[in-house]
Amino acid sequence: GRDIDELTQHPDLALDEAKRAGCTRAASFTWSLKERFNRVHEIETGLRRAIAVDELKLAFQPIVDLASGRIDACEALLRWDHPTLGPVSPAEFIPIAEGMGMIESMTAWVLRSACSAAASWPGDVRIAINISPASLKSSDLPANVIATLLETGLSARRLELEVTESIFLDDSGQTNAILRELQRIGLRLALDDFGTGYSSLSYLRSYRFDTLKVDQSFMAGVQDNREDRAIVHAIGHLARALDMDTVAEGIETEDQLMHARQAGFTNVQGYLLSRPVDRDAIGRLIASGPLLPKAVPVGIRTA
Ligand code: C2E
Ligand code: MG
Ligand code: MG
Repeated sequence: GRDIDELTQHPDLALDEAKRAGCTRAASFTWSLKERFNRVHEIETGLRRAIAVDELKLAFQPIVDLASGRIDACEALLRWDHPTLGPVSPAEFIPIAEGMGMIESMTAWVLRSACSAAASWPGDVRIAINISPASLKSSDLPANVIATLLETGLSARRLELEVTESIFLDDSGQTNAILRELQRIGLRLALDDFGTGYSSLSYLRSYRFDTLKVDQSFMAGVQDNREDRAIVHAIGHLARALDMDTVAEGIETEDQLMHARQAGFTNVQGYLLSRPVDRDAIGRLIASGPLLPKAVPVGIRTA
């Protein structure tokens, strides 16, 4: 350290690092810890301002029904262009917002903006919104959802909430109660990034998820990797037997699309179909008709 403030700060950063990695561990200060600290600090101060000055934006990515080729739903994805850091990924700033206790106001903003966009789409196109585990602990969420639906005129069945398996990790019973309350309102629930958490199949028995979204890491390996192919096919069949919709995430190639079809997935999402785009562009994309040719029923297919 170059002065007394730095000298006292650096051991604290090393201590945080040791705690982050688990217990009974020693860690030394390194300058990369300091860089990380400065970046997080900059994101924290930036986030407070971002909400106030409307810097956050939503992008929408289509989720396409394989049978009809049409857009079934669109996923709302947060975008943030930081004035000096440039674009910051939601995967980076959402955990920081959670740590700052800002996630509830952010979720409320996403809900309102996404539902108001969806209200202008044709009545059969749904909107999917990511809900972080921290938001699911808030008993305000169901009331907030109802207020947003009333305000925007969107019907509950057109709103799908995407949650990840991590919500089940430290369940105090509250998350469970809130999930049930959301289902009672009539929302659809999707299990996002399936296969990357603990993937306990007992969740599928205890909760009625409407949709299973298989993590893109499995689709990425489907062409070259026999294990990924086997897992994707098994999940496709399981979900069909349980009467759930299945989304293959991260479809970038025709080959991955073919595997998603063969595994019996009902829906696909990925750059091959469309990248996430802004509100005007998604409106035009929905209006332009099917993104894929209609699937030919197996019995009718010719050589
Ligand atoms: P997610 O919910 O699994 O979203 C899918 C991510 O995959 C998005 O990344 C999307 O842009 C990306 N993606 C879509 N198609 C492809 C593809 O073909 N190839 C590749 N390589 N990637 C593809 P994004 O937008 O960076 O979001 C990352 C994560 O941040 C999301 O993962 C979600 O967990 C979280 N997130 C985004 N928006 C929100 C939000 O409004 N609230 C909360 N709580 N989390 C959000
Ligand atoms: Mg998602
Ligand atoms: Mg996902």
